[in-house]
Amino acid sequence: DVVIRGIDIRKTYTMGKVQTHALRGATLTIHRGEYLSIMGPSGSGKSTLFNMIGGLAKPTSGKVFIDRVDIAQLDANELAWLRCRKIGYIFQSYNLIGTMTCLENVTLPMSFAGMDGDDAQDKAVEILELVGLGQRLLHKPTELSGGQQQRVAIARALANSPEIVLADEPTANLDQKTGEEMIELLTRLQDELGVTIISATHDLKMLKRSNRIMWIKDGQIVKVAHPSEIDFTS
Ligand code: ADP
Ligand code: ADP
Repeated sequence: DVVIRGIDIRKTYTMGKVQTHALRGATLTIHRGEYLSIMGPSGSGKSTLFNMIGGLAKPTSGKVFIDRVDIAQLDANELAWLRCRKIGYIFQSYNLIGTMTCLENVTLPMSFAGMDGDDAQDKAVEILELVGLGQRLLHKPTELSGGQQQRVAIARALANSPEIVLADEPTANLDQKTGEEMIELLTRLQDELGVTIISATHDLKMLKRSNRIMWIKDGQIVKVAHPSEIDFTS
């Protein structure tokens, strides 16, 4: 059962006379309910690939299908629905709203999705408790540590019960203990709710937990393997 398919995705950024070929023909299949890790050096195109398969930016050429629908064919409302309901994004830079409390940051996507205000707030409290921030509901992002901000970002990504979670280095700014809790949380989402998880990571524990590992280099997918095929000791 295929949830996302990317076909010959290319992305070229043009800044003045400088062109960067961030993706040079990436073709990939993501299965429903799998936990896919994406590895690759800095600048290899991981974030660009996330933006393309998550419907956040348009490829220069190539196609992205989500549940068999070519997302280039979606109208603005359908695209908004995809971004708000179907996919949860955990960005490296958090993208939290600095003037809002944790609770407000997490409530916002549910309000956008049309949920009643009280229900949205109740659910936000529940999710923030789940990620261990029940005592920080009224704090603003600047009043939290990096790891706590990351957890707010994760809570926000989960607000609308997405079927797909795209996570860009979700454990990079977390201490070891919080990082392990994060992996537990992602694994539970996969196991208990069947959420498809796609994560860029170098975290060995995350790599070992994933169903498949995909390597990207210079904008191309160069290898796909099962964790059991990898020697993690070298
Ligand atoms: P094939 O090329 O043999 O048709 P698939 O494209 O179905 O294989 O799958 C490619 C890889 O993805 C295989 O290693 C398979 O074990 C793995 N895979 C397939 N489905 C899932 C899934 N639902 N969850 C995790 N891994 C999967
Ligand atoms: P990664 O996530 O693997 O670090 P990125 O997808 O962020 O890689 O970047 C791939 C290449 O595209 C890099 O050379 C980067 O500098 C370039 N790039 C990424 N985003 C932009 C952008 N918005 N404008 C111009 N160049 C970009």
